[in-house]
Amino acid sequence: MLSSSSMSTVVDIVPFLSKNSKLWKACGIRGLLPLENIPGMISLLAGRPNASTFPFESITMKLKPTLAGLPEGEDAFTIRLEDDELTESLQYGMTAGVSRLVNWLENFQTEVHKRELDDSWNVIVGAGSQELMYKACEALINDGDYILLETPVYAGTLGFLAALPCTLVEANADSSGLDPANLEIILANWETTHPGKPYPKLLYTVPSGSNPTGASIPEYRKVEVLKLAKKYNFLILEDEAYGFLYYGPEGKKARSYFALEPEVNGEAGRVVRFDSFSKVLSSGMRLGFMTASPRLSGVVNMITSNTNLQPSSLAQIMAYALLSRWGPQGFLAHCAGVAAFYRTRRDTFERVARKHLSGLADWTSPVAGMFLYIKLLVHPDGRTSDSLKIILEKAVNKGVLAVPGTAFMPLAGPTPFVRVSFSLIEEDMAEEACRRLREAILDARAE
Ligand code: PMP
Repeated sequence: MLSSSSMSTVVDIVPFLSKNSKLWKACGIRGLLPLENIPGMISLLAGRPNASTFPFESITMKLKPTLAGLPEGEDAFTIRLEDDELTESLQYGMTAGVSRLVNWLENFQTEVHKRELDDSWNVIVGAGSQELMYKACEALINDGDYILLETPVYAGTLGFLAALPCTLVEANADSSGLDPANLEIILANWETTHPGKPYPKLLYTVPSGSNPTGASIPEYRKVEVLKLAKKYNFLILEDEAYGFLYYGPEGKKARSYFALEPEVNGEAGRVVRFDSFSKVLSSGMRLGFMTASPRLSGVVNMITSNTNLQPSSLAQIMAYALLSRWGPQGFLAHCAGVAAFYRTRRDTFERVARKHLSGLADWTSPVAGMFLYIKLLVHPDGRTSDSLKIILEKAVNKGVLAVPGTAFMPLAGPTPFVRVSFSLIEEDMAEEACRRLREAILDARAE
């Protein structure tokens, strides 16, 4: 049964929009482009170059036979962009993304999250999810706003938030992801801890295979977070950059915040969702998509139409050509294959890490994504060190790199954790890396 916002209250996003969002002016040309789709319209609008002058006759994509997943036949591994697809891939296109890809993605979201497409949400495409997240924050954040961040948090978000005029509030995440109990304490005590200040406007979280912790939040916690979002009236920015990389027990994957919001809160529009093709199609194609209130998407489009105009048509048509041939289930089957690859990598890395780091480090096994968040135990009695820097310096001297957990702390607090990425590492390299890390910890212990 599809949950529909006709049964839900649509959250009015307008009061959440920033003052800046109102300063952007619609681009006089791009705003008119949709009118070109009216049958019979002769368009003298856009300054599009004449594509007959472009040097490309056709573009051929050859898929890896093992990953193609296309129906058997002569062209099972080859997709040739010709005719309409070629023309569209080489030309300027809609700010929100080429229509056939946007439509495909809206159907996909409907199918995956069981949310009928209605006025409460739409999909727009961006040059990676990060671009869309930044623009959404630009559209939402005002001077003096408070922003809740799952902590530790994706360092890329900290990067752009540093340039926005908001105050960051850390909401603890543990090995099961964002902790609603901690969130509730923060919010219940807000007026005491922040007298006269507005309540936080939004919460940013990475629900699956979090970067850096590798944690995935279970559904019962998401339900609690959603209830708090309604009670304290903040938006949830759901960054699912690793959402397609779930490799935990079958049937245990938590439904998304986007899927749960009508059921839990009887609402639509409080969740702003970001998906990315980076981890399953190609990170270089720079394609991500945002699923959100059309009013918010409209502001993001306005920013795009005045800055980078649109995401790459070529990348979008490449993705569309493949996705439309796969269909939603074919795409998900491909993602399951990619996820299985990372599960194997996780298993290998954990096996060698257990061998070399037992008693020296602790971590929780992830069920999605490509990261282990490793707590270094410098002292034999289990006390953790404030001197992560010293260990990591020793590690660098021994020839192994890991990201210090401090990079993921919004308020730059101390932490004994390091982030390790196991996506690229083969077994022999993993073995050597863990051996070197072991030596670095033992040296630090000896000091
Ligand atoms: N969110 C998280 C948590 C990420 O780790 C990344 C990529 N490192 C992104 C967003 C950005 O992804 P994209 O390539 O889609 O911009």
